Amino acid sequence: MSFPSLGGSKPKTQILTVDECENCHNRVTHPHQPGDYVYKPAGECDKCHGTRRIIMVYSEDLRGKQPHLTASEPQAPPPSKP
Ligand SMILES: [Zn+2]
Repeated sequence: MSFPSLGGSKPKTQILTVDECENCHNRVTHPHQPGDYVYKPAGECDKCHGTRRIIMVYSEDLRGKQPHLTASEPQAPPPSKP
C-alpha cells in the first residue's frame, strides 16, 4: 500500500510588503503578513514618529535570488619564472 506524496512543493515566490513613512519617506521592506494591504497603517516611524503606511505589496521570485557570482573573469596563467 502506497500513499501519494502530498505537500512536497515549495513556494517559488515570497510576498513582500513595503511600508513608508508619510513624513520622512523612510521605506522598509518586510515579509508579507496576513492582513497586510496597501494603505494599511503600519505603525509609527522610528525616525520621526510620523505615520507609516503600506505603499506596496509584491511578490519576489525566489529562483532569482541566488548570489551573483562573477565567474566570467578569464584566468590568467601563472607567471613563469625565468
Ligand atoms: Zn519618518
